[in-house]
Amino acid sequence: MESYNSFKVAQQQVLEAARILNLDEATVDLLIFPQREFKFTLNVKMDNGASRIFHGYRIQYNQARGPAKGGIRFHPEETVDTIRALASWMTWKTAVVDLPLGGGKGGVKCNPKELSISELERLSRAYVRAISPMIGIDKDVPAPDVYTNPQIMTWMMDEYETLVNRHHPGVMTDKPQQVGGTEGRRDATARGGVITVREACKLYGYDPHRCYAIQGFGNAGQRAALLHQEILGGGKLVAVSDSRGAIFNRDGMDPKELVTHKLTNGTVANFPGGKPLPQEELLELDVEVLYPAALENSITSENAGKIKARVICELANGPTTPEADFILNKNNVHVIPDILASAGGVTVSYFEMVQDHYSYFWEENLVHERLDKKLTKAYKTVQEAVKEKQIHPRLAAMVVGVARVAEACKLRGWV
Ligand code: GLU
Repeated sequence: MESYNSFKVAQQQVLEAARILNLDEATVDLLIFPQREFKFTLNVKMDNGASRIFHGYRIQYNQARGPAKGGIRFHPEETVDTIRALASWMTWKTAVVDLPLGGGKGGVKCNPKELSISELERLSRAYVRAISPMIGIDKDVPAPDVYTNPQIMTWMMDEYETLVNRHHPGVMTDKPQQVGGTEGRRDATARGGVITVREACKLYGYDPHRCYAIQGFGNAGQRAALLHQEILGGGKLVAVSDSRGAIFNRDGMDPKELVTHKLTNGTVANFPGGKPLPQEELLELDVEVLYPAALENSITSENAGKIKARVICELANGPTTPEADFILNKNNVHVIPDILASAGGVTVSYFEMVQDHYSYFWEENLVHERLDKKLTKAYKTVQEAVKEKQIHPRLAAMVVGVARVAEACKLRGWV
């Protein structure tokens, strides 16, 4: 029976990597659980004057390599286990790209689509009041994730600065540039993913100029639509989906027009340049590159066998279940796993922290260049582990990440 509990999936992935690395029992026990978990309630005044209680979380999974780092989600389906899984993945993600950071994640169970702007602001500020003792540039640095954005980061930073009574822009990343943000952060997750696709094409001969499809059209999906063509010099975008629908056009669609349609209408559905497509069929299209950029557990044992994409670039966190991984691997689909493919975002978050620290900001080209170097190197390191240990790419990425974290824990004398 296939498991959809993301935390169990994450634990299983750590255990597999630990087996390859021959880690001792204490190290394994340390790495399969978060180091610290915070669970709290938030009371927020709604616009109608009534109070409402929300459930919030912040989890610092592992801080052996540096301060905890990872996003905050506002999502109606949020659970403590989802946050645990996401915090675990952040730990291996920062290690795979060799950043001096640990992993963490936070969330609030809520539906931001049903909140007014001022309710959203009060919720964001309440969240920071709850976690303020455990965050800071040298402790734990949140960023956006699903349904959170730079405006929310700005309210959160502002609330924190009010509490500590000084400037501290590095407490949050992916802020607007006027308040301590960096060039290049908004498209960094997608840019990093497309860079790994470029490397896969170079190394294994995939054709970036054939067609591609994107599941999920939030920040990462929208930017990937544009950057695939910009960085790879071509390719037809044949299908796109979001939570409300999917559209398809075999001759390709204009990414810019699609983004404009999404921003105007809140969905890609009814885009005049394409025909409606059942959402689940998007994953099964015959494309060169498939970008899952939505939520966890989209690719399962039910649909993995029907996937015809040659490359899967996982911009979402945890889109593929272990059973599906097994099938994709057997069918020779080249999976660029989430902890590598989506690491561009946190890489530029790290650059933002560095710039905030020095209060001196880099030009856009420098951010792109340094991001490219980090992701290219990480992609190559993971491919070397694939060859050397004869393992599939997700396991290889986990082996690289887990080994680095285990080493830091050992050096510190924790195990
Ligand atoms: N939420 C993003 C991720 O899952 C970015 C995290 C960050 O920049 O800290 O990688």
